[in-house]
Amino acid sequence: MLYLLSKFLNRSVKQEMEQELYYQNAYLKSFSAELIKQEKDESGRLYAVLSKTAFYPTGGGQPSDTGTLNEIKVLDVEEVDGEIRHYIETHLDTTDTIKGRIDWNRRFDHMQQHSGQHILSAAFEELFNYKTVSFHLGKDTLTIDLETDNLSFEEAAEVEKLANKIILENRPITTVWVNEEELNQYKLRKELSVSKNIRLVIIPDFDYNGCGGTHPDSTGQVASLKILGWERQKKKVRVEFVCGERVLKQLGRKHSVLQQLTASLNAPEQDMVEAVNRMLVHRKELEKSLEESRDRLLSYESAELIAECDRDVASKVYKNRSIQELQKLARQLVSEAEDRTFLLVAENEDKLQFVFARGKNANANLKELTKEALLIVDGKGGGNESLAQGGGKLMDGEQFVQQLIGKMR
Ligand SMILES: [Zn+2]
Repeated sequence: MLYLLSKFLNRSVKQEMEQELYYQNAYLKSFSAELIKQEKDESGRLYAVLSKTAFYPTGGGQPSDTGTLNEIKVLDVEEVDGEIRHYIETHLDTTDTIKGRIDWNRRFDHMQQHSGQHILSAAFEELFNYKTVSFHLGKDTLTIDLETDNLSFEEAAEVEKLANKIILENRPITTVWVNEEELNQYKLRKELSVSKNIRLVIIPDFDYNGCGGTHPDSTGQVASLKILGWERQKKKVRVEFVCGERVLKQLGRKHSVLQQLTASLNAPEQDMVEAVNRMLVHRKELEKSLEESRDRLLSYESAELIAECDRDVASKVYKNRSIQELQKLARQLVSEAEDRTFLLVAENEDKLQFVFARGKNANANLKELTKEALLIVDGKGGGNESLAQGGGKLMDGEQFVQQLIGKMR
């Protein structure tokens, strides 16, 4: 990877190695150094610069280390204009020698993930010539973007197998600093655009990579690698995966979900998919039969309402019925009693809603009726000559109907 190479151009290798202890020894967890300066950056964040450091600054897709300087928290580490800034929570006492300690769990996780990424990218290229064009190391998972339109399950499985084989073989991971002439000895997958002070991260006979990140000293320490999934993104495929400890975390999380489902669905793990599919089919059937029952109930209701009202204009007041349900009932009513008009009213929570329907042989003026109704409830609504609906402020449904009928007369 080329990500970090440009920063090496301005300094000699010797200088680099003296200040950046993580390049001398990626396993260094604590160190002593002199405080060069502490000040605030343009946005007011306090930072310290040391004579040397084991804190890796954000770069090359690898997040920075965190930890402490003399027990003061280091929140972030960035390299700016060739100096490594340790962003700290409060001021350091300037008279002391600085004792630095990095959060080792976080760093080792990054080393596992970053090296796993090298191995996975190399495996994709070795087997299918899919080149990695970018890399992201996230909090829970990692992604690489491959230069390909498509990735099959078989390809992914084969790549995962090769990556884990390389891990299991416990090959050494070494780094060398080389110049342009020396570079010719190595078969790089990608041509490098810089010509001096190049840091190569090497897994023998497998991967030669220009990279400035931190790595463990053998592939075995990556422990394992699991591809979680992938998605196509214009001309690229983004592959999500985890390495090292994160594989166990993922397994633990997924296993706990499965166990809970096993209990609540009362089905063993291997039958889970079938059990869920069965449940979904069953739910569809239930929904359908519920719908049918509702329709049947509505036609009984309609018949009952027609039988109990003998006037031209019939009304009924309900509590908590949706406009949709009232519309359905209204259509049913006028299809069976074509010479009548129905006023269906519902007292719903904080509003009064209504549906008016006129049979094709009835002669009520529905437009006028709706206008009057909306005036009474100070509401909104509309419709046509045969069906109208609306709603407004809540009032007693019976009173509403009486006022309306009074106006009609
Ligand atoms: Zn790297």
